[in-house]
Amino acid sequence: MLPQTLRRAISGMMAALAAQVLTLLPQEFTLRLLDRTIARRQAGDTLANKPDGIHVLLCGAAGPLTDLKRSGPCVAVQAGRRLFIIDAGANGAGNLRRFGGNPGRVEAVLLTHAHSDHIDGLGELGMQRWTGSGGQHPLPLHGPPVVSDVAAGFNQAYAADTAYRAAHHGADIVPPGGSGFEAVPFSLPDDGDLNTVLETDDGVKISAFAVNHDPVCEAVGYRIDYRGRSVVFSGDTTYSNNLIEHARNVDLLVHEALATTLTERMAAAIESRGNTRTAKILRDVPSYHTAPVQAAEAAARSGATQLLLYHIVPQLPTSALERVFLSGIADAYNSKVTLGRDGTLISIPADER
Ligand SMILES: [Zn+2]
Ligand SMILES: [Zn+2]
Repeated sequence: MLPQTLRRAISGMMAALAAQVLTLLPQEFTLRLLDRTIARRQAGDTLANKPDGIHVLLCGAAGPLTDLKRSGPCVAVQAGRRLFIIDAGANGAGNLRRFGGNPGRVEAVLLTHAHSDHIDGLGELGMQRWTGSGGQHPLPLHGPPVVSDVAAGFNQAYAADTAYRAAHHGADIVPPGGSGFEAVPFSLPDDGDLNTVLETDDGVKISAFAVNHDPVCEAVGYRIDYRGRSVVFSGDTTYSNNLIEHARNVDLLVHEALATTLTERMAAAIESRGNTRTAKILRDVPSYHTAPVQAAEAAARSGATQLLLYHIVPQLPTSALERVFLSGIADAYNSKVTLGRDGTLISIPADER
């Protein structure tokens, strides 16, 4: 078996070679390739064709820091026939399409909190859902009370564009009343509470619980239950006993992870160049996040069947850094751990019993 770095180098060379060969092809051949690619993508709502169960697709696996390999936090969840989005970081809607989903099919968005990295792809998602579905109703935006402001702000920012597109394409294609978001705020759950915030008649139940992302007072995690299966999403939080209680024996725990050892090294390097302000911000960040080993401890204490790490901070441009990021995890949790990437898909079949 070749080392991963060598395999990546070889596949990079093959891709470069293929790109060179493509430049030598006649234009007609290139255009036919384009036709086939477009046709494949149009037919490509592979999420919709998955077997019954819960399917978790990372449309963005990074946090707020610039990351060349991962997009902002955004998770698509297919539960039965229904498609939901948890947080809408930058590029999330485009990645949903890229990895086999259809933004036009999104039934609701659930925000964990209103930090910018979790909402800065909302405009893109709302637009792609509207033009993709031709729906008559705005996209429901569930979350803590702050979602009312978030929905109102995005709706106002996109009001002119909505009018332009309805005038251009026709209201029957893009009904103006179907654009944007409809806020569906819920009260912040108390510690210990698991509050149902969305329930469908075909058995999908989505619940919210409080996490600790202080000073972000309106921050929650979510639990999705469907046909005997369950997945918990941490959102942004420090190590949380409340999360562990609500993630008891789940099939999958999707937990954020920030490597403080790496962010501190970044801060020290930045400070040594005289940028004390950015260094200070970087040193503030770990106080409201969870280290990778702590996420593994949370998975172990909750009894989760497997752990998916997302909201990866900082960026990990090499496999060597990924190993540093994951060091100590195997000692803390002896079940399956996946380091999230854009496009990571974990499927949990419905429990047929
Ligand atoms: Zn975040
Ligand atoms: Zn946050």
